[in-house]
Amino acid sequence: RLILAFESSCDETSVAVVRNGNEILSNVVSSQIKSHQRFGGVVPEIASRHHVEQITYVIEQALTEADKTIEEMDAIAVTEGPGLVGALLIGVSAAKALAFTHDKPLIGVHHIEGHILANQLIEPLNYPLIALVVSGGHTELVYMKNNHSFEIIGETRDDAAGEAYDKVGRTMGLTYPGGAKIDQLAAEGEDTYNFPRAMLHEDNLDFSFSGLKSAFINTIHNKEQRNEPIDKANFAASFQAAVVDVLVGKTMRALEKYPVKQLLMAGGVAANQGLRTGLTVALTERFPDVKLIIPPLSLCGDNAAMIGAAADMLFEQGEFRGMDMNARPGFMFEQH
Ligand code: ATP
Ligand code: MG
Ligand code: FE
Repeated sequence: RLILAFESSCDETSVAVVRNGNEILSNVVSSQIKSHQRFGGVVPEIASRHHVEQITYVIEQALTEADKTIEEMDAIAVTEGPGLVGALLIGVSAAKALAFTHDKPLIGVHHIEGHILANQLIEPLNYPLIALVVSGGHTELVYMKNNHSFEIIGETRDDAAGEAYDKVGRTMGLTYPGGAKIDQLAAEGEDTYNFPRAMLHEDNLDFSFSGLKSAFINTIHNKEQRNEPIDKANFAASFQAAVVDVLVGKTMRALEKYPVKQLLMAGGVAANQGLRTGLTVALTERFPDVKLIIPPLSLCGDNAAMIGAAADMLFEQGEFRGMDMNARPGFMFEQH
């Protein structure tokens, strides 16, 4: 089964061809990061315009790289939400237009289900499993008893991990998005500031990053006021150590409560080197029988292959959308 998949929820225009939900034939990603950097974040109007300009080229390139035609596709899939409404609409409209003109079934995918099922493109998933979702807008522990059951067993009560990274990055004067740069700086520094590990020892699976973010910003501002030099590497390392301790700690707590076969990492922050190492070490020590799947960097950030992987599961279940499908900017990640 071949699926042509679209992703345009934020600032990546991406189209992929995925076979049987587990094999990437092509996964073209056109990033607009450079156009947004001087504004310090994604500007919705600029994002929509870029998607419009890029999408036809990206579709052509995805089909060419896969060496397939639209006629050979069994379905067209697209991110329905959540995301920026204007950005989502470009992908949804393109997918609907192709599905209509070529008479193909249409599938709507939740962006976060895509991030999780990206792992299926690396190796077969064994259930039950837990996914640690860490992205720009989400921080969640998700329990899956099978490939179409998503149970949120823990989540952030305020900021998402990626959001905290980006805000802290901005405070340090790093270009948007700051996550990957803080990760690099952290490797050169040490945890000298010992920032708070919020909720780490509370008996629940929830997270909170806004206190950490405030502690970080206040500490930097106090130093600036005293005209003391800012040791960026130590600030980055201290911030990252606090984030990783909490993410790893809560994930281990989740594994105590829910016996599973696999632990998956999902979302942009899954690219974080400190987190990858932290989870690997903790798992080897505490749950050596649980298999950790770490997606390659290309499948951590937004991409259409992950949407194709999730769409294959929906195809299997006969979950198709009609021509009345619309962008769902506030699409909640519901349990089902
Ligand atoms: P969502 O998926 O929740 O809708 P999104 O699509 O904007 O949000 P992603 O594209 O999955 O988020 O991830 C982007 C986030 O990942 C950004 O906040 C970015 O800073 C962060 N990120 C990317 N690489 C790293 C890294 N190495 N370390 C920490 N954060 C990172
Ligand atoms: Mg992005
Ligand atoms: Fe995302």
